[in-house]
Amino acid sequence: MHDTIIIGAGLAGLSAALELSKRNQSWQILEASDRVGGRVATDEVDGFLLDRGFQILLDAYPEARHILDYGDLNLRPFHAGAKIWLGNTFATVSNPLEHPQHALSTLFAPIGSFSDKFAMLTLRSMLERSSLDDIFERRERTTSEYLRAFGFSERMMERFFTPFLGGVFFDSKLDTSSRMFEFVFKMFASGKATLPAAGMARIPRQMALRLDSSRIRLQTPVASLEEDAEGAIVRLASGEALRAKAVIVATNAQTASHLIATMPANRPAFVAPKSRSTTCLYFAAAEAPLSEPILVLNGTGRGLVNNICVPSNLAPLYAPDEQALISVSIIGSPQTDDETLLTAVRKEMTAWFGAEAHNWRHLRTYRVEHALPDQTPPALTPPERPVRLTESIFVAGDHRDTASIQGAMVSGRRTAEAVAAFLG
Ligand SMILES: Cc1cc2nc3c(=O)[nH]c(=O)nc-3n(C[C@H](O)[C@H](O)[C@H](O)COP(=O)(O)OP(=O)(O)OC[C@H]3O[C@@H](n4cnc5c(N)ncnc54)[C@H](O)[C@@H]3O)c2cc1C
Repeated sequence: MHDTIIIGAGLAGLSAALELSKRNQSWQILEASDRVGGRVATDEVDGFLLDRGFQILLDAYPEARHILDYGDLNLRPFHAGAKIWLGNTFATVSNPLEHPQHALSTLFAPIGSFSDKFAMLTLRSMLERSSLDDIFERRERTTSEYLRAFGFSERMMERFFTPFLGGVFFDSKLDTSSRMFEFVFKMFASGKATLPAAGMARIPRQMALRLDSSRIRLQTPVASLEEDAEGAIVRLASGEALRAKAVIVATNAQTASHLIATMPANRPAFVAPKSRSTTCLYFAAAEAPLSEPILVLNGTGRGLVNNICVPSNLAPLYAPDEQALISVSIIGSPQTDDETLLTAVRKEMTAWFGAEAHNWRHLRTYRVEHALPDQTPPALTPPERPVRLTESIFVAGDHRDTASIQGAMVSGRRTAEAVAAFLG
């Protein structure tokens, strides 16, 4: 019998295993798929590296700094700023502290007024001075309410905040918690947005390489849970039953809720938050539509596409030599079939980048249904949700903390600490 069984080898499950290993506790991970990493995944297609949905690592995440070896990941930074499509032209805004040479063009860019730009600097410096504790103590409301109360104009909302944060939260109305906004904006302000040189999947791979691989069982879906006086019983889809003193359910919230519902007795209350979805289309091109390592936002308030970027501009391994990889992101999952969606996206990209977009070769479309837990207030009051459900059943994952790489990692460690305290 293991001390602890961890269900799921996403960032939360791996982080829990790292913490239990540090404490010399015995554990086993049961993972349904054929790889570790969960939602942080990269596929290799025709020599291109396709992250399953556009994703980035903010190098200021405190837990990621603590757990990961950034040097080994060879993090490649984005330009600190964004290029914004205005319907007939692009405008670029840059962080003047990181790119002083662009300060003047940023000041005069038609993205908000001078007072918006002043408010941006004020917000930034306020968040740089705030601790994470300060952020999670301030009144929680929606991000949209928060930014309007801070004094940002409607134009600034439409041209910058809605596409920028909408793409981070997969939420085009900015209903997401202001605490989440302050946290994420602080992370952007205090570090860089990056991609690991060889794809996002290098993050969980690096974590897994520090664990005893014989304790990670892949292609082992768990079907149900039970609890009795001696601990927990985990039944696999294969019919095999395993016993442990404690179980950490480190799946996404929907699966956690489903597994908990299988408990025949002592079933705890567990309500999964709704989830947010995203769609990402990848294209190959002989020539990149832009030369900078920058995020491009749709500032028009119209159309399907929210943001695009060329990952190979910052991380050349994302595409074979002489080719570029283009990632096009949409908030949600449009109700059309993939072929109709592709035609609509191509049409929009032709308006943005000219006829050359017709020649982009479509590589793959990812529709990610449960990409993030919904974090509409009061999602982060309190910011850390309980991780112990019953005597021996615990839960971890991004739905317990901030919905992010940081939140998943923190939650894994936090749950492992609770398990270790229980097991003594
Ligand atoms: C497209 C996309 C873009 C994102 N962008 C960013 C970003 O830029 N920055 C950021 O910080 N965060 C981002 N995120 C969020 C971040 O990736 C997640 O918050 C985090 O990876 C969640 O990790 P987790 O371990 O909680 O859950 P998961 O990654 O969902 O891991 C759960 C694991 O459980 C396994 N599992 C499920 N059911 C079973 C079962 N029955 N038995 C055994 N195993 C099971 C799954 O296969 C999976 O491996 C993004 C997410 C997506 C999808």
